Amino acid sequence: MGSSKSVLSGRSLEELRALFSPLPPFRAKQVYRWIIRGIRSFQDMTDLSRELREALDSRFTLYSSMVSARLEDPDGTVKLRITLEDGAKIEGVLLVDGEGRHTACLSTQAGCPMACVFCKTGALGFRRNLDGGEIVEQFLHIRSAAAGEHKSPAEGPEIANIVIMGMGEPLLNLRELRRALGILTDPQGLGISKRRITVSTSGIIPGIFDLADQGPEVRLAVSLTTADGELRKRLMPVTLANPLPRLKEALAYYQRKTRRRITLEVVLLGGLNTRRRDLEALADFAAGLEVVVNLIPWNPVAGMEFEGRPLVQPAPREITEFSEALTKRGIGVTRRLGKGLGVSGACGQLGEPF
Ligand code: SAH
Ligand code: SF4
Repeated sequence: MGSSKSVLSGRSLEELRALFSPLPPFRAKQVYRWIIRGIRSFQDMTDLSRELREALDSRFTLYSSMVSARLEDPDGTVKLRITLEDGAKIEGVLLVDGEGRHTACLSTQAGCPMACVFCKTGALGFRRNLDGGEIVEQFLHIRSAAAGEHKSPAEGPEIANIVIMGMGEPLLNLRELRRALGILTDPQGLGISKRRITVSTSGIIPGIFDLADQGPEVRLAVSLTTADGELRKRLMPVTLANPLPRLKEALAYYQRKTRRRITLEVVLLGGLNTRRRDLEALADFAAGLEVVVNLIPWNPVAGMEFEGRPLVQPAPREITEFSEALTKRGIGVTRRLGKGLGVSGACGQLGEPF
């Protein structure tokens, strides 16, 4: 921490080989394997000589971030506050579902520039993009948290899914996200299937085309919130430069390329986006796409207002009626539970001032 040593966590095997030259290539492979296994110190790399460990230690560092706080919810959610080398703070979350499957939720930016009015991260403003290593490290920190204190992280429970749904807009940091995904999905590395990774965007059209053309072929989720363009412009300023009709074209293109179903995330804001009008617009937007709508009852964030009125959670009846009306129109619906509410680790609750 705080040193100018080169960081190894976000490096591909090829990059490690280049960095370690003129050492033979198998040295890079050994170190890569240790990083993947969750080792935190060169001293623990038992198949390297002491001289080599010391030589590496003097030039490189394995991690650039550290877990500065850990909050655990009785429902199993663990929120990690992670402090980066420059002092910026981000959050990564471990979620455990009813069947005991583990999901890691990763951030791609410190803060977020998109300013969605219902989101705590949006209210913080933007500090900076994360680099690929900082994204990979979140995964490794979360995996260690899942393994508990005593086991080696790689022997802990499998992290079955990754969702890029933490702080920030992933498609505004696509280059570094790609680097991180390269390591997370590398069969010689963490080996996580692309089908088990979901990237959630507020709807950055050029980023969706870029992802469709250049990959990787991850699952895509879009934070639609409402398909009523007028209301969406007021709730999510991203709509101004990325209008809904063109967003739909981009999603259709992504779907043609990847043949994957797309998730439309709809945060339900009490009395705001649960009108008949939102329903009709959503059904129109979904027509011709293969989608599932994920309904997320708004998680409360103290003091959040919209045009002078406090935002409120939707009433249970409001949720049920909206959900049933979608089902009636033949649209697949899932409901996200309020996981992690006790630790403010739920959607849209991430972020303390940096
Ligand atoms: N920035 C990306 C990914 C992270 S946000 C995006 O917006 O897609 C993850 C999800 O949480 C988004 O669907 C967002 O709409 C939702 N969300 C934001 N604030 C929320 C809140 N207070 N309660 C519930 N969901 C929220
Ligand atoms: Fe940023 Fe996503 Fe929050 Fe919008 S919902 S402000 S895009 S983190």
